[in-house]
Formats: sequence, structure tokens, C-alpha cells
Amino acid sequence: MNAQILNGTAIAAQIRQELARETAALAAAGTIPRLAVVLAGNNPASAVYVRSKIKACEEVGMASELHTPAEDVSTEALLELVQDLNRRPEVDGILVQLPLPRQAATRRVLDAVDPAKDVDGLHPVNLGKLISGNHRLAPCTPLGIIQILKRGGIEIAGKEAVVVGRSDLVGKPLGLLLLHEHATVTICHSRTRQLEAVCQRADILVAAIGQAAVIGERHIKPGAVVIDVGTNRLTSAAEVEKYFPGDAQRLEQLEKRGATPIGDVDPRAVRERASAFTPVPGGVGPLTVTMLLANTLTAARLRRGDGMTE
Ligand code: NDP
Repeated sequence: MNAQILNGTAIAAQIRQELARETAALAAAGTIPRLAVVLAGNNPASAVYVRSKIKACEEVGMASELHTPAEDVSTEALLELVQDLNRRPEVDGILVQLPLPRQAATRRVLDAVDPAKDVDGLHPVNLGKLISGNHRLAPCTPLGIIQILKRGGIEIAGKEAVVVGRSDLVGKPLGLLLLHEHATVTICHSRTRQLEAVCQRADILVAAIGQAAVIGERHIKPGAVVIDVGTNRLTSAAEVEKYFPGDAQRLEQLEKRGATPIGDVDPRAVRERASAFTPVPGGVGPLTVTMLLANTLTAARLRRGDGMTE
């Protein structure tokens, strides 16, 4: 099958252009949306993610600020910082980068964020609004997946959608968003029986599992649209040869960086069977940061009563 590649990099670039235009219009009216990021401790992967978020803000003309409490920060100190950011009127979005250092009470810190500034969409108030379909700020990766489907010309209404993975961050909110788009939704997890048969029903199959290439030929209905959220790593030449036969670029990347990325879906199977799919990298990933920017703009508007009803 000649499958359509759902190019997340291109879709993200298109959305960022729109966001830059809208941000400029808001700035001309006197408001520059501002994102405050809390990066606690010394997690190197978190530092990389945070840098890319701050750079993305700059690129669309939004303001940002970075707070870096030390590795031994107490829950009380984090709560104080969040309360301070809640109080400051010029801060529109607050993002607490996870994971927090071990001693910090993550849920207490996340719950302390003003729901109007919760650009990760993880506050119970925003999750509650998501259930009713009355949401404004929803988790970024699921929002990005809906954008990929819509901008990729994939109809959602009436389709059978199967989401494999039930995390609070991806699987559950995505299931709700697809439901609000009028899909018939099934959410699977590690205890699901006959996973292959359930997945075979899917017109839209989403894998958000976190295990390399576990979704294979027998899970994918011919002609299905497949969205691969997984970000796993292959670290041996034999594995790279198995999943990406004859791909010299992948082998070179492995040699240079010690790993090459792979999703939760077997790349050989998806090309054979899907009508459209997201590649890894360059599929879902670029949308996640982009939707953080979109949420920051939404928060800035909502907080100023700018034409959006809550
Ligand atoms: P979690 O580990 O929180 O959740 C994984 C889910 O997969 C769980 O619900 C688990 O079931 C289920 N699962 C695990 N093994 C199986 C299996 N063999 N069969 C069926 N279900 C299974 O992960 P996240 O949702 O946070 O992330 C999933 C993946 O997406 C990861 O690779 C992550 O790195 C990636 N990700 C990528 C993002 C991006 O921007 N590209 C953003 C966020 C995540 P159970 O609940 O029963 O344990």
C-alpha cells in the first residue's frame, strides 16, 4: 500500500506560523503571552526539553522565564514558587517540568498551579472540563494528535478509534478528545485481552505504550490510519537492520550517537498496511511543544477575556 506520511514537522511549522501571527496581533494590542517554566534539579533530559520549549517561545514571539530550583528543593519551596507565579499578572502559563526531584510531592505541586495558567492541561479542573468537552487547556500531546489528524485530512467522526495506552498524559485524554470528535473509542492497556483483535477493528489506531515496535502487522487493519506516540531507542546494528533494512542513515546515526529512535509501531508493518501514518521521528513529537505554545496563547487570551467563552 502507498501510505500517506503524516508529516508532524510540517504540520507543527504551519501551526507555529499561525501562532506567531496571532501572538504579534496580541502584542500589538499590548499583551505578550508569557510562559514560566520550573525546572527543578539536575535531570539532563528535562534540561534539553526545557531548552527546546523556551526556544520555541522565542521563535513565535512569546516571552518566557526559567526558574531552576536546586535538586534538594522542598515541596514547600516549590509551592511558594508556584503561588508567586500564580499571583503575577504578566505570567500567562506555568509549566512544571516533570519528573520533579524525588522528595518533592509532584501531585501537590501540579495541583497548586492556577488552572487558568495550567498550560500542560494536567490540573484536575482542566481534566474535569475535558470530560465534559468544555475544555480550553488540554494535555499537549493529545491535542497535537488531533491536529495531525485534522490537518492531515483524516475524518474522525464515526470512525472506530483504538488507543493503546491509558496514561493520564496521553491515552486517557486522547480517548476523550477523540470521543468529542465523535469517534467510537476503545482504550487498551497491558491487561487488554486479544489486543491484536481489538486493534484490528481500528480505523484510527494510536500506540502510546513506550515499547519498541510492539504494534505489528497483525494489529493493523489494512487501510487504517496509524499514529505512533512512542519514543524508544534502538542501540544495536542488528536491531536497526531488522526494523530499517538497508537504511544507511539510521546506521550512521547509531554509530554517531549510539542510538536511533523508533516508535511503538513496527515501521515495516505500518508502511505495508496503513493508509496513513506518523513517522518516528517527525510525527507526533514536534506537535507536543507546538501545542504548549498554543495553550499559552489560549491562556493569555482567556485571562484577558479576549473573545473566547469559558
Ligand atoms: P506510560 O508508561 O505512562 O503508559 C504506557 C501505557 O501503555 C500504559 O497504559 C500501559 O498499560 C500500556 N502498555 C504497556 N505495555 C503494553 C502492552 N504490551 N500492551 C498494551 N498496553 C501496554 O507512557 P506514556 O503514555 O507517558 O507514554 C507512552 C509513550 O509515548 C512513551 O514512549 C513516551 O516516551 C511517548 N511519549 C511521547 C511524546 C511525544 O511528544 N512524542 C509525549 C508523551 C509520551 P497499564 O496502564 O496497564 O500499565
